[in-house]
Amino acid sequence: MGNCGEAVWALSPQAALLGGICLGVLMLSLWVARQHEFPGRDAFVVAHLGMGWWLLAAMLEVAAPTGTCKQVFAQLAWPGVMVVPTFWAAFLWQYANSSTEHLGAGRLALLMIMPVLAGIIAFTNDHHQLLYGVATAPAHDTPRAPMIYDHGPVFWFFAIYLYVFLVFGLWSIARALVTVRGFARRHYLGFLVFTLINIGANLGYILFGITVFGFDPTPFSFAVTLGVFTWLIAGKGLFDLVPVANRLLIDRLPDPVIVVDDAGRTVQANPAALALTGLAQLQEGLPLAEWPGCGPTLARHLEAEAEGGDDRPAAIGTEPRWFEIQVVHVAPGAERNGMRLGRMLYLRDVTRREQVAEAMRVALETSQARLSTITDLHTQLARQAVRDPLTQLYNRRHLDAYFGEAVAYARGNGTHFALALIDIDHFKAVNDRHGHLVGDDLLKAFADRLRLAGGTRGEAFRIGGEEFLLAMPGAGKPEAVGLLADLRRRNAAPMMTRSGAINVTFSAGLVGLEADGEDLDTLLIRADRRLYAAKRTGRDRVVADDPGAEIAPAVSAGRPSGRVA
Ligand code: GH3
Ligand code: MG
Ligand code: MG
Repeated sequence: MGNCGEAVWALSPQAALLGGICLGVLMLSLWVARQHEFPGRDAFVVAHLGMGWWLLAAMLEVAAPTGTCKQVFAQLAWPGVMVVPTFWAAFLWQYANSSTEHLGAGRLALLMIMPVLAGIIAFTNDHHQLLYGVATAPAHDTPRAPMIYDHGPVFWFFAIYLYVFLVFGLWSIARALVTVRGFARRHYLGFLVFTLINIGANLGYILFGITVFGFDPTPFSFAVTLGVFTWLIAGKGLFDLVPVANRLLIDRLPDPVIVVDDAGRTVQANPAALALTGLAQLQEGLPLAEWPGCGPTLARHLEAEAEGGDDRPAAIGTEPRWFEIQVVHVAPGAERNGMRLGRMLYLRDVTRREQVAEAMRVALETSQARLSTITDLHTQLARQAVRDPLTQLYNRRHLDAYFGEAVAYARGNGTHFALALIDIDHFKAVNDRHGHLVGDDLLKAFADRLRLAGGTRGEAFRIGGEEFLLAMPGAGKPEAVGLLADLRRRNAAPMMTRSGAINVTFSAGLVGLEADGEDLDTLLIRADRRLYAAKRTGRDRVVADDPGAEIAPAVSAGRPSGRVA
């Protein structure tokens, strides 16, 4: 170590500048340390302390009188030189990753290994000359001439070590720059620019020997840092973590968030909200109602909020996305004295839910429509199954069910039940003479007459080709005989067909339900016998239970034209 006491010390302007910067850096780090929490604060403060150390040594080196003396201070600077990039990189990494974790004794010790080692090697350089070689000497003979350092192998090792940290820090910040949008981007850009300026200054010095006042310019570039930081801290709210984090959060939110002032003018809109308009940027202060596309809908929700809110989802866009819109009052602190600065609209995308609900609604509608079609078809089929398609009278199939019910009712109420088997006389002759279609016309017309005769209580069936059955619940023999007499009377008039008016007669077998448990078949057999008797005895008549009760001759209704025999 050289003797620094013999020659004259001089506080040159350069030395004074370095001292000023040193003081500024230390004060800044002190002030920053007392600010509230921000990511990487510990590393940030340590990096600044290192800078202070380095700048102090630099100032002393500039002010020192002799070359030997200058070299002593250059060696003294080393712990600071190592601390700065190491902890700057640690800070950048933590800041970019929003890590507020404290540095801790373990990590601090780990990161300090190399700066301490560098200090020891620098102090003992006289013995090994590994850091600064023997060719280290003043640039010229004038007093306080700057030194030209002969960089030894350890110097280059340390330089590489430090650049590993710097590259890591740069990578952290560049990665954050790519992913972060909006407000926070400016901070990362500030760090990047500052770090690059320092690297540039340092590379210029160690690779190309560029000096400022004959001195390593790296510490001077910290002056720029100081400026950048003062600007960032004072002007751009750097380290105001809470608002920065809030902006970040809102910016990254996939749901649109819009803040409007009390007059409904846009104050803030996150990228998701901007995406609703399809614009890259919104004119500041644009009234919400004038937002392209979604403005009127959003403004309506703001208005509705005053009357208790509208919680129905709103459709926005041409290929609509569905949003639940929440309106929140923005007030200083709690909503005191009804004071309101503005309102925030929070739009929750419920498109998927709405789509599923819509699909379910359509599916339900379709299945309901199908069900009603099936029910209709079923009703039709059920109707068709028991009706004769030509005359629309009940068919034989329905007779069983009808008979069961009617008889049960008659027995339960002690009433009568009469039944007549009716067969049109010489119907084949009608077909033969006029054709089958005319025969059909006749069957239909006859069915109408039968229906009329049955009235509201009776029920008519077509049980075969030209064979019918008239059920007469509640009718005793006299009523039933009367009813058939009435039918014969009606049937005396000709029926209209496509070939004109035609007259037919009919024969009938009339029976009444006996008191014992007689079934339908037995009853039909009895009725058939009476019908056969009616045919046999000349047709155009009704033969009742009592063989003597043949009605026909008594109420004969003229000569039927269908009669052949
Ligand atoms: P009877 O006095 O002895 O009863 O003589 P009929 O000719 O009426 O009796 P028959 O049993 O010999 O003939 C019944 C005819 O009814 C035969 C058939 O062609 C006709 N027929 C059966 N079903 C239909 C139908 O749906 N439409 C038409 N047009 N004719 C039918
Ligand atoms: Mg017949
Ligand atoms: Mg017949």
